[in-house]
Amino acid sequence: MAHDNLAPVLALIQKHWGYSALRPLQAEAMTAVLQGRDSFLVVPTGAGKSLCFQAPAMERGGTTVVVSPLIALMKDQVDGLRACGIPAVQLDSSLLPEEKRSYAQDLLQGAIRLLYVSPERLVSEEFCQFLKRVGVHTFAIDEAHCISHWGHDFRPEYRQLGKLKDIFPQAAIHAYTATATERVREDIVKQLGLRNPVILVGSFDRPNLSYRVVPRVDKEAQVLEMLERHKNEAGIIYCLRRKDVDEVSADLQAKGVNCKPYHAGLSQEDRKSAQDAFSQEQCNIIVATIAFGMGIDRSNIRFILHANMPKSVEHYQQETGRAGRDGLEAECVLLHSGEDIQMWKWICQKSVEENKVPPDFLANMMRHLNDMDAYARGSVCRHRALVNYFGQKYEADNCAACDLCLGDTEPVPDAVVIAQKILSCVARVQERFGINHVISVLRGENSERIQTLNHDKLTTYGLLKEHDKKDLRDWIYQLIGQDALRKEGDEYPILKLTEVAWEVMRKLRAVRLVRPLRAALRQSRADLAAWEGVDRGLFEELRQFRKKLADARGFPPYVIMSDATLRELAQQRPSNVARLKFIRGIGEAKLREMGEAILKIIVLYCKENQIPMDVAWTSKAARPAKVKQHVTGAKARAFDLFREKADLEDVQHQLNRSHGTIIQYLCDYIRRERPDDISLYVPKDIYDKIAAAIREVGSGQLKPIFVTLEEKVPYDQIRLVVEHLRV
Ligand code: ADP
Repeated sequence: MAHDNLAPVLALIQKHWGYSALRPLQAEAMTAVLQGRDSFLVVPTGAGKSLCFQAPAMERGGTTVVVSPLIALMKDQVDGLRACGIPAVQLDSSLLPEEKRSYAQDLLQGAIRLLYVSPERLVSEEFCQFLKRVGVHTFAIDEAHCISHWGHDFRPEYRQLGKLKDIFPQAAIHAYTATATERVREDIVKQLGLRNPVILVGSFDRPNLSYRVVPRVDKEAQVLEMLERHKNEAGIIYCLRRKDVDEVSADLQAKGVNCKPYHAGLSQEDRKSAQDAFSQEQCNIIVATIAFGMGIDRSNIRFILHANMPKSVEHYQQETGRAGRDGLEAECVLLHSGEDIQMWKWICQKSVEENKVPPDFLANMMRHLNDMDAYARGSVCRHRALVNYFGQKYEADNCAACDLCLGDTEPVPDAVVIAQKILSCVARVQERFGINHVISVLRGENSERIQTLNHDKLTTYGLLKEHDKKDLRDWIYQLIGQDALRKEGDEYPILKLTEVAWEVMRKLRAVRLVRPLRAALRQSRADLAAWEGVDRGLFEELRQFRKKLADARGFPPYVIMSDATLRELAQQRPSNVARLKFIRGIGEAKLREMGEAILKIIVLYCKENQIPMDVAWTSKAARPAKVKQHVTGAKARAFDLFREKADLEDVQHQLNRSHGTIIQYLCDYIRRERPDDISLYVPKDIYDKIAAAIREVGSGQLKPIFVTLEEKVPYDQIRLVVEHLRV
């Protein structure tokens, strides 16, 4: 799909949002909206879904209706849009009658670009009639997974949205979600009745998050350790039961920590006040059950601590996904213990007995639970495991941002021998038993069941009696993660051997077994890169300024400006308006409204502390890691074509990939192969101009270069030259 028609939208984005480049799949998603073609976008939290319908709504004119499940979510988006100078409203039960009337008037006059509503309201007869009078042509469905009961967050009111296509047959529907396995995806398309939709599934990886699984040995101390590492920063501590939430939060409060509990057992008032305090940055720490979630748009959450295991990988991905929406580093730690899965099983069983969920959901719940437990015990890179779970490949060998890749675990000596013992035990019990029984046999337990089955006579009986249950369970999961074992059955899964298992037993293949280390946690690459060159004192001052402004307007601070923008300000320290324009996230409205005040703070701070301003920023840490990955597939073909000096259109045509993807391939090609001459892609005179601008303002970000060149040279060409000049 070509994106040449996106130039006007890009100009709008620059003007209102102050962003200078699109993120992966945004171009494709926006093109579908502009063309009025149904679409479905699946990208992780923080990837920038909202912009995909907001910017085209401005470009197309008319009214785009956005469906969102929670009032709090809508409010944040509407406040954020207005701060960028975009006419947006939300219609909900909290409005006064005169507000409602005035909004309705504005809508009928075509003065509103984005209208936010709940699904219940949207499908009511009266409201549909009203929308027909407004002449709505586009619907954006946020959190679209709520429509599928295969997902982990089914909401019956979303089911009604199935009627939309019948009521508005001419309108296009666009669905957005951060989490959906193949099965859920198919269900969403079916339920919404999307017609020949453009389906865009992005990478599920969140490189700015680091993931760790640590054995839960002393919950209290481990929680405090985490808080110590994140002083003055925002975080969520997830617990399994309400009782745990109350205990942990009371304990922390007694120690002087400013935190608030949140669970479904609290009054609506208490919940709202906790959520508001967190949003307004009056409180940085929330201790919560799963109930705390979807309404949380705070973009500068720096850690998520799971004091217990969540009940599915989807939940884990969504809960950890709330961290680092601003693209800056954030830490996700899961305290794991075998007790949690037992507790969850008991809770699931009880919900079936109490008729809270239909019995046929039980197998689905158990499958989700077992998958989560397997993740926690696995020995495969966490980023890889998560991405694979959602059906995608992970290319890098080492993510440099998880416990396994950072070396927080130690390899088990004799891993192959241990693996062989485990696998032969599975063979001896004829692949007819589950994990618990295999562990009992290996540890030589003297239970009635073992005796009845005569399993104490097996040659593998007691073969690993010197190891404890927890280690054995972890290792079995690690063997599953390496495809040597597989589980069959949902409710009472049994262990089966695979081809890989036989190769391991015949010593044709090695396996890796690990044990967690309780050593100090190392920082990930993202952690190190994120604060490089940022003056923390100035960052704090700017944060205070943002807080005051937010309080005065009754907005959450992150709606005014993201932490990423604050860090850039504290890193480049612009001294004048021209330089301030370089900063990502500062569009025209913000420049006008707060530009002067920001400059004043920066100039004063820099003078007082005698630090330089207008720093041309080129990050060292953000440079690509030295590990060279193998180039395969379409990318390898693109490299061949670039070597043969094919032009961009030709490569795009031959590979049938988007323009953005081809530019990405070309950047990678330039970085790796260092061709002497790229004049085929960037004419010499333009190359020289870009190079001169880079000398002036640095190559850390593209926007300053773009602005210096009077916004006349396309971003693609700037990117290519930046890559070419990299040392
Ligand atoms: P999602 O809905 O996918 O979780 P959001 O729409 O909330 O993500 O976007 C996350 C953050 O990224 C927001 O602060 C948003 O303004 C910002 N953002 C979106 N697109 C871009 C872009 N192209 N460049 C820079 N920032 C962006």
